[in-house]
Amino acid sequence: MSTAYKDINNYPVRRYVDTHIHLDMYEEDRASAFMSALGTTAGVDYVVAVSMHLESCKATEVLASCSNRVLPAYGYHPEQELPSEEAYAALFAWMDQRQSQMRAIGEVGLPYYRREEALMRGEPFHREPYIELLEPFIKRAAAWNKPIVLHAVYDDAPIVCDMLERHSVRKAHFHWFKGDNKTIQRMAANGYYVSFTPDLLYEAEIMQLANQYPSGQVMTETDGPWLFEGPFVGRSTEPEMVKSVAAKWAVLQGLSETEAADILYRNAQRLYEF
Ligand SMILES: [Zn+2]
Repeated sequence: MSTAYKDINNYPVRRYVDTHIHLDMYEEDRASAFMSALGTTAGVDYVVAVSMHLESCKATEVLASCSNRVLPAYGYHPEQELPSEEAYAALFAWMDQRQSQMRAIGEVGLPYYRREEALMRGEPFHREPYIELLEPFIKRAAAWNKPIVLHAVYDDAPIVCDMLERHSVRKAHFHWFKGDNKTIQRMAANGYYVSFTPDLLYEAEIMQLANQYPSGQVMTETDGPWLFEGPFVGRSTEPEMVKSVAAKWAVLQGLSETEAADILYRNAQRLYEF
């Protein structure tokens, strides 16, 4: 059905994308090893390099300047303290000057795990300031027509869906998504994308999501350097692990590995426009 990309000898070449990696969080030599493998048969073709805060955005910008296969995303990760007013202003001023260079806005979202931990300790947690912080990122995604990379799981996801709908944002990527069926259906109907990490190989909840989410809206990622379990235990996370994720998705979908890799690649290509 799909025409697989062929190499010069007419063998099918499988192409892969790590649509979510914190490349700036790796040691320099490790990041450059990943980057020199991009576009070779040993590596993946592209990575979407997300950022945590302004310093991280600057580091991501340097990495992206070394390879056009590193697609930079700038934002403020929600699982940390809120930025000071100065840091907030500095980040947006910096981003506003780089509208044309950035491929996406991210990583942004809501602090599910931080809130869970606070509640477990019996401490109050105020989600509202994080919602207020997310709003200007979503507004920019709408105004700039850029994809937005979201960290929004479980009961945070419907809140983020409300915000995206309010601003008519359709190019949304919920990375490593976990949530209820109603929200999954809403996201799928809105055309939002999700991506699977290596835990697709051993987490029933993620396999379930992979079985029900539209095949035209799914991608692969590592969230590296985050470490994985199951068959990946003891291994440091690298972009090439998305090949195992794609192979697992192929099995779940009853597709050949080449067909599955092709669909996953084209989905990422459509959203991130490379
Ligand atoms: Zn991440």
